Formats: sequence, structure tokens, C-alpha cells
Amino acid sequence: PDHKELYRERTQGNKEFFERAKKVTPLGVESNVRHFDPYPIYVNRAEGSYVYDVDGNEYLDFLMALGPKILGHNHPAVTEAVKEQAERADLTATPQVISIELMEKIVDWVPSIEKVRLTNSGSEATMHALRVARSYTGNDKIAKPEGGYGGAHDYLLQSVLADEDALGDEKRPNTVSYGSGIPDQISDLTVAFPFNDKEATEEILREHADDLAAVIIEPVMFSAGCLKPQDGYHEFLRDLTDELDIVLIWDEVMTGFRLAPGGAQERFGIEPDMTTFAKAVGGGYQMAGFGGTADIMNEIIPPDESNAQESWQTTAFHGGTYNGHPVSAAASLKTLEVLEEEDVYADIDRKGELLFDGLQDVIDDVGIPAHVEYIGSAGQVLMMDDDLDGFRDLFGANGDQFNDWFVEAAARGVLFGIPPQGERFFTAYSHTEDEIERALEVAEDAFKAVDH
Ligand code: PLP
Repeated sequence: PDHKELYRERTQGNKEFFERAKKVTPLGVESNVRHFDPYPIYVNRAEGSYVYDVDGNEYLDFLMALGPKILGHNHPAVTEAVKEQAERADLTATPQVISIELMEKIVDWVPSIEKVRLTNSGSEATMHALRVARSYTGNDKIAKPEGGYGGAHDYLLQSVLADEDALGDEKRPNTVSYGSGIPDQISDLTVAFPFNDKEATEEILREHADDLAAVIIEPVMFSAGCLKPQDGYHEFLRDLTDELDIVLIWDEVMTGFRLAPGGAQERFGIEPDMTTFAKAVGGGYQMAGFGGTADIMNEIIPPDESNAQESWQTTAFHGGTYNGHPVSAAASLKTLEVLEEEDVYADIDRKGELLFDGLQDVIDDVGIPAHVEYIGSAGQVLMMDDDLDGFRDLFGANGDQFNDWFVEAAARGVLFGIPPQGERFFTAYSHTEDEIERALEVAEDAFKAVDH
């Protein structure tokens, strides 16, 4: 059966818009991951838990902009803060009070961050964090678990997803760049290791220890199917990187300000040396950054503050015209205020349980080979029978069937995780229990439609 028939019927205007968009932008999207088969929906309005497309269709949205919309779309208090700041002062060349206030809050909330700098995206945050770690250690190589996504720059577009054969031995993975256009020399600077495998991780890190600046790792590997750390893995990695003098960077772009006010490090009780964050912190506006111990972050400070411009040539550079944009900072501060004052964390986690456990029940009832992986308010449906123990298990997941399920659900008015890899999806503060109940009914119909 054609699982896209109902979708096509209801989204004719989107199909036309897709053709129009393709004339000016590759594949009709601003960012690769926004595309799915047969064509994406084009949104012209969003509010609370809903987005609306050019055909006037309403969708109950769990994609939540791929993470940032922790309160839901256009939260009135956030929108108001944005308007006020835009009227008071938009971008200036000299630092703004509101951006410094935001950094005070971040240092206050995130346990391991003593000093912080702001960027516009998670990709910029990881790129700069790596430079600072390289400057601090004097080493060039970095290590990352295979299967992790850390941003759209060459250093971390390594061992993200690849042909299974190209990855080589699971205990000693090859480093494989993701897509074309990345020089081989960059791959040579990255060492991949298997997440959760202590023995292999230790062997690889010890072998490269003298050349390694940093280990950069997602505390929960959302980009590898929401792969969770096994007991003791992060403690082990903390001890090992301490012993080997390697900077431990936790990439909390997905987990930061979501799993707890202080992110995964607060939830798990472990302090990395550096942290990157983005998404939830900005409540939908471009806000991200990196921070760490004062000792490491001071790599950015010129040795001679009175002659900074010249002296900067000897330090790790961090700059950006739009860094800490005041309008985004206003959105961010207001988002954090609502998160704190309205006990949002308990609320979204409870809704996460309702949604993700509910989906597992539906899957079990329908009897389709799939299962749900989640933590707190973020999770994912994997079209596979086996448990997820490691990144390579994802090769056993049925991506086509996932795409069909997503499209069948979208045609019925609910957006779960975007294909092809099955991006995670989220519960937001705006979601109600009734909405989650309706989503589960739609999920069931969609599972039944693709179960053959
Ligand atoms: N790191 C992680 C763990 C991510 O999930 C992402 C984005 O999904 C990034 C970094 C890159 O962030 P951005 O898309 O804001 O550049």
C-alpha cells in the first residue's frame, strides 16, 4: 500500500510549495533534516502545541522545533519579552546588560560551568569548545563516540552515520566523515570509540592520550536513538579523562536545560570540564554557548588585557557578530524564569511518561516490531525488535516503515519524530493530557496502517 496517499490528498498546497521552494533552495528546505519523503509541510503559523501549514491543516506538534520549544510555540510571556527587548535595544557592538544577566543565570544553573560564552547555535558552541580545549591542552586530536552528532562542522561530522561496512571493527571503529566535502586530514584528527563499552573506550583513549585535547560526548546519545549510558559509564569516563589529562566536554545541546535546570550533569551528578548547550535554553530563539572551569575558559583571555587586540593573537579566539543577541537573550531569560517559577520540569517529565509509555503500550497492542526509547521529556520510536544496546543496533531499524508511520500520523494531524533517522520528539509545557491521549489514538491508527 501507498502510505503517503492520505498525506498527499491533504497537503496539495504543500506539494506545490515544495516545487516552488526547490527552485531557490536545495531540496526545498533551509536545513537538511527538515526534509522528509514525499515532501515536507510548510508552516505559516504556530501556537502552543500546534503548527499550521499552507493548506490550513492543523498539527499537534511533538517535534517542537527539534528541541528548543520546551514551553511550546509562541509562549505569550516569551513573545512579550522579545517585543519589549526589540523596542528597547536590538543588536549593538558593545556588550548588553541582558546578555550578561543571562550568563549569570547559566553559571548559576549549570553545576560545572564557572565561566561561559554565548553563540548562536549548538554547532558553533561545539566548534568553539573544541578550540578552547585544544588551546588548553596543546593537543590536536579529539575523541567522540561513534554515532554521535555534535554539529554541522567538519570536526564533528565524523562517525555520525555511515555505511555499516565502512565503520569497521566495533571495538576499534574507523573514523568516517559524514557526507562529502570534508578533507581526510580532518578525519585523521578525530578518534571514534564505542559508547558504553568501557573496555574498548579505555583502550582507545589510552592509546591516543598523548595527542588528545578532548573527549566530546552527549550524556544521553539522543542522536543514536536515545541511547542511554549504562551504569557507571560516565563515572568511568570522568575518572579516565582526569587521569589522562583530557578535557571532558559534555555536549548538552539536547539535554541541557531540559533534563533538569542544570541539565544531564545535574540529573546524573557528574561534572564535566566543559559543557556545550543550545536548544531549550533559548526557548525557540537562537541561543547557545559553551562554558567550563574558569581555568579552561581563561584560555580566551589575552595575557595582556591592556593590549587585548594584539595579545589575542596568542589565545583561543572566540567571536561572533550576533553572539548573545539581546532579543534572544530576552527570550532565553524569560524561558528560564517560566521553567523555574512554574515547576515545568516535573510537568514535562510526567507528560513524557504518559506519551512515551503510552506509545509503547500501543506498539505492544498492535504487535508491530518497534519500541520506544526515552528519558524525561524526550524520546524516540525505533522500528526494530531488539533492544538498543549500542549505536550499531540502529542498522537493524526499519527506516522506511518509520517514514510511513510518521507520514500516516501527520496525515491524521500529529507530528512525531521526523524521518528518515527518526529524530527524537518532545513533550512541552503546552501539551495537555487530552492532547497526549489524542496523539496516542492517532499513533495507533498509524501503526495499524503500516503493520503489514
Ligand atoms: N549537539 C547535539 C547533541 C545536537 O543534538 C545538535 C543538534 O541537533 C547539535 C550539537 C548542533 O546544534 P545546532 O543544530 O544548534 O547547530
